Amino acid sequence: MVSRSSLYDPTHFPSAAGGPGFDLRPERHEQLLRNHPEKYSEMVRSVTGYGIYLIDRGGLISSWNQGAELITGYARGDVLGKHFETLFPDDSVRDGLPRRTLEFVRANRHSRDEQRRRRRSSGEFLAHSALDSVRAESGELLGFVEVFQDITEAKQREERLYERATRDPLTGVFNRGHFVEAAALEIERARRFSEPLSLLLIDIDRFKKINDTYGHDIGDRVIVALARMLVAEARKVDVVGRIGGEEFAVLLPRANKQPAAEIGQRLRRAAAAQRVAVGGGREIGFTVSLGLASLRTGTRDLAELMRNADAALYQAKREGRNRLEAWFE
Ligand code: GH3
Ligand code: MG
Ligand code: MG
Repeated sequence: MVSRSSLYDPTHFPSAAGGPGFDLRPERHEQLLRNHPEKYSEMVRSVTGYGIYLIDRGGLISSWNQGAELITGYARGDVLGKHFETLFPDDSVRDGLPRRTLEFVRANRHSRDEQRRRRRSSGEFLAHSALDSVRAESGELLGFVEVFQDITEAKQREERLYERATRDPLTGVFNRGHFVEAAALEIERARRFSEPLSLLLIDIDRFKKINDTYGHDIGDRVIVALARMLVAEARKVDVVGRIGGEEFAVLLPRANKQPAAEIGQRLRRAAAAQRVAVGGGREIGFTVSLGLASLRTGTRDLAELMRNADAALYQAKREGRNRLEAWFE
């Protein structure tokens, strides 16, 4: 499966981006800060790629580098002596996030998180934050140091790539590859917890005729109308995918044959009730045939379930279309 986190690794802090020769790994800060405080502040002051600043024991901001200024828009004078909370949007403050964050670092010495932060001019940005406690040799808490980056754009890019890799561009539902991966996980889970699970394959009837009569674009509109209906009618736990040109699959976790057949019949009727505009104020309807297969103790994998549902779908076509058939052994 395409993982959301694999495309961008916020735990990676390349030292080159902060300036040659500086080791910006968060765990190095405490040591350096404790042993060479002047050298430390001088070093981080001019770093522009990362926001780096200190917070005192009471939660007040006590230093502010150029990177922090560039990212947030706040100058040193705006934030020095202000509480850590100042850097958060109002709703995060209300939820107690800044307070909880410092408490966590107090208890665990370190925290790594993605948090929404306030920008001086235009609303918010998404920060990747690494916070460390700063302690005296005795262990006494002196304050905190945070290193943060603006990952707003990286995150958006990552989301777009993820969408592109997992969704069918025409309909927005899962593409075949992602459907198969998501469905395989659901099947694994259903087997582990001995829960029922069913699969519906849904194919538009006589779709070639729609294409031939009204053109490919209208055909596309029919496909989109069907996909929208499936998403609207499906339960939250269901997995909807476009697995072929005009063929969809809906995986129904926790549904055995009986409720799955009822859901399938509901989808069949809802498809027949759809109307698609073909221009000139005219509309057309369409129907679908469905094949249903349910997980049994002997079912090996998704491929087998798909084969069974496909055999049932074939039967539904043969029996006259606009109908549902269930696979049985
Ligand atoms: P049946 O009732 O047996 O399913 O008949 P059918 O005409 O639907 O037959 P079949 O499933 O074989 O035809 C699918 C057609 O869908 C063939 C192909 O030209 C068309 N098609 C495949 N992908 C797309 C698409 O993305 N857009 C459009 N408009 N047509 C597509
Ligand atoms: Mg087909
Ligand atoms: Mg068809």
